[in-house]
Amino acid sequence: MNIAPSQLLSAALDYAYSHGIIKYNLQHRLTHIPFILNPLKINRADMEWMIELTPIFNQLLIHIIQDHDFLKYHLSPLASADPFIELLLSMLQEEDTQPCHLIIQRNDFFLTRDPVNQRNIPKQVEINPMAAGFLTMSERVNKMHQYLYGHDLIGNNLLLTAPVQCAAENIDLAFNKHYHMPEACLLMIVQPNERNIFDQRGLEYRLLEQYGIFTLRMTMDEVGQTGKIREGHLWVQNKIAAITYFRAGYTPDDFLSQASIDGRILIEKSSTIKIPDIPTLLAGTKKIQQVLTKPEILRKFLREEPAAKLMEVFVGIFELNESLGDHSAEELAMKTPQKYVLKPQREGGGNNIYGINIAESLRQMSNTEKQAFILMERIQPLSHESSMVIEHQAEAQECVSEIGRYGVCLSEHNRIIRNEDAGYLVRTKSIEHDEGGVSAGYAGLNSLYFEE
Ligand code: ADP
Ligand code: MG
Repeated sequence: MNIAPSQLLSAALDYAYSHGIIKYNLQHRLTHIPFILNPLKINRADMEWMIELTPIFNQLLIHIIQDHDFLKYHLSPLASADPFIELLLSMLQEEDTQPCHLIIQRNDFFLTRDPVNQRNIPKQVEINPMAAGFLTMSERVNKMHQYLYGHDLIGNNLLLTAPVQCAAENIDLAFNKHYHMPEACLLMIVQPNERNIFDQRGLEYRLLEQYGIFTLRMTMDEVGQTGKIREGHLWVQNKIAAITYFRAGYTPDDFLSQASIDGRILIEKSSTIKIPDIPTLLAGTKKIQQVLTKPEILRKFLREEPAAKLMEVFVGIFELNESLGDHSAEELAMKTPQKYVLKPQREGGGNNIYGINIAESLRQMSNTEKQAFILMERIQPLSHESSMVIEHQAEAQECVSEIGRYGVCLSEHNRIIRNEDAGYLVRTKSIEHDEGGVSAGYAGLNSLYFEE
């Protein structure tokens, strides 16, 4: 039986609240996570293209994080203009305290249309090897769409996604390989007053219910004040943190106290398995993304064929003083700002500069400050109409969708043990907004179905 179109909104809202598709809004009241009522149609080939890239991106990360000199070489020049980069670089440890690395990342793409060859091409927005969110919520919204569309055309062709399950499975694997101890737990580093807490709790409950792994939630500040290293292990609240999973620590606001800085260093120096460690976090910076778009640099880390596959989905990313034909990248950005996005070394949304604001910002920056930014060609995604539900109201809007593929990679002594794609996330936003942001209330979570 299918739900009548007139009942779809109320059925979706009932499902969302019953299954914890919720967050705190800015007034710290509970509300549902914004979502899309009608899933997005996609070609099977376009999706398979993105899936094929996930293990390559994982491999790239694993190779980069072994090369601290590479990270320091490209990031140190930014440190004088960007105290956050300076702080993170100062946390790099000479010695690797844990041979096991677990990466949980998400690679975000827009689908574009190549007018010459008349085919779709995914273009990468960025990789997030740090605190890649919505593991739980993407799975729940996907199940909501399964419920809403049952066995009709959309329901039958819906693409299932279960990233939180894949993440939990790999966390369990890493946990049991290295920490067969009754006191062991997973330490989740969180921000105080997290509004997206239920997404994090979803992973926590899955780990406990399915794998018997206990999670401790702490801020970095609390770790700095109470954590200890004994025989290499990180001890918090009389437990050993076998794995430390960061959902904080990607913005300077997470390091306002000395205790939080001490906490982060303590974690890095201990043998806890860090998701991510500092090298992985640095490998995910926009500056490193920019550097890797140069084929000769990418080829240092990947063989020819996989490198060529990544090059196909990259758009141009430049240093501002880079020469592009007759002009510098900066001059081009001043002339045609609508073609670019100006990005600082920040994560978490709301930091980028678009359109006419680019010229204005550049005029106010010193040359040193400019070094801490990269200039990215603006991607022109395919648009479509979607019914966006925010704060219980549905509205049809012309939208674009950012498709993220989660990747999980487990390695030991630099040997890769697991390297897999872990499902998808779709964030759909109105074409009116430069930036998305599900938490900010501009984008809704969505699902995909195959066009047959
Ligand atoms: P953050 O680390 O803050 O998530 P992103 O690089 O993902 O930074 O940019 C935030 C958002 O801005 C993206 O989700 C996307 O909607 C938009 N955006 C970023 N880069 C581009 C680009 N090159 N072209 C078009 N939109 C972009
Ligand atoms: Mg992003």
